[in-house]
Amino acid sequence: MSGHAFDGTPLSGEIDPEQLPMIPDVSGNTINGLGETERRQPSPIYWHNPRELAWGELQTWMLKKTAHEVPETRALDHQLGGRGSKERAPVAKSRAGKSAEEWTEAAKAFALSHEADQAAVAEMRTEWFFEGMEEDLPRIVIMAVRMDHADLAAAPEPPSIIEVMRQYNRGTRAARALADWIRKQGYRAEPHGGPTAGPLTLIPPALAAGLGELGKHGSIINREFGASFRLAGVLTDMPLVADRPDGFGVDDFCMNCRVCEKACPPDAIAPAKQTVRGVEKWYVDFDKCVPYFNQTYGCGICIAVCPWSRPEVGPKLLQKMLRRLDRA
Ligand code: SF4
Ligand code: SF4
Repeated sequence: MSGHAFDGTPLSGEIDPEQLPMIPDVSGNTINGLGETERRQPSPIYWHNPRELAWGELQTWMLKKTAHEVPETRALDHQLGGRGSKERAPVAKSRAGKSAEEWTEAAKAFALSHEADQAAVAEMRTEWFFEGMEEDLPRIVIMAVRMDHADLAAAPEPPSIIEVMRQYNRGTRAARALADWIRKQGYRAEPHGGPTAGPLTLIPPALAAGLGELGKHGSIINREFGASFRLAGVLTDMPLVADRPDGFGVDDFCMNCRVCEKACPPDAIAPAKQTVRGVEKWYVDFDKCVPYFNQTYGCGICIAVCPWSRPEVGPKLLQKMLRRLDRA
């Protein structure tokens, strides 16, 4: 089990023996539905209440270790920019008579002027909610916040997790601000920001809303940011116009690129797509990734080394792939 960090240093994927007794009998890949051919909602697996998760003890171990060894990541409400108020504004009793197009324009403009770097809309689907966590809010505004690639490239060293938490905080602030703005317009809105998971998985609606394509490393690749960004979202009943998925050649590119596969110390990234809950897609082996992720403050090597994330490479790659698509 070996890989290479962004600077080419070989890394070991050996598991810290402290984690071994906590690894549960049930595979995370089974919980995730790897190999299942029927579509179904995802099961909670990580970043929910650890007492209710088979892998929850390991989640707690990871958080304690990170808080102890990287103190900047403690007390996120007060550090790394904070997360904004937990109190939500009341929902106003009256609404302006705007069209869905006008609300969409106004909501996106608000998001972009309140810390989001990109904002897009998707109509919610039941299959994006974790089982048992459905909410009766029919759409979502998904926001992307860019990470500093120089910090991310330090992965798996602490500058990376500090930047990850800083951007999760920024995304959460942006989501809370947008939710309050929507509520003041007379519509319901609930913000959701990482690192803990809310009632839904954010990646599928972000893909549907056009924030990028899924990469082999299991994270979204965005035209502008590569995989160097984080997501936050606001579920709402405000009438909004959904965006369309984006496509700029990532999927083709990943077929022939092996950078993240080779760099992943525990060899968790598969060379080919697999079927997960009835969908054929890129999938990262949970059981191999998570122990390494836990002992390295959230790892992040795969998204750091991805050529789309690298500021000196990503924009040129985009132009090349767009020219190729044009010719096709
Ligand atoms: S985050 Fe997981 S998949 Fe990515 S490089 Fe680290 S161990 Fe591998
Ligand atoms: S490193 Fe290569 S294979 Fe992996 S996600 Fe990025 S482009 Fe795709």
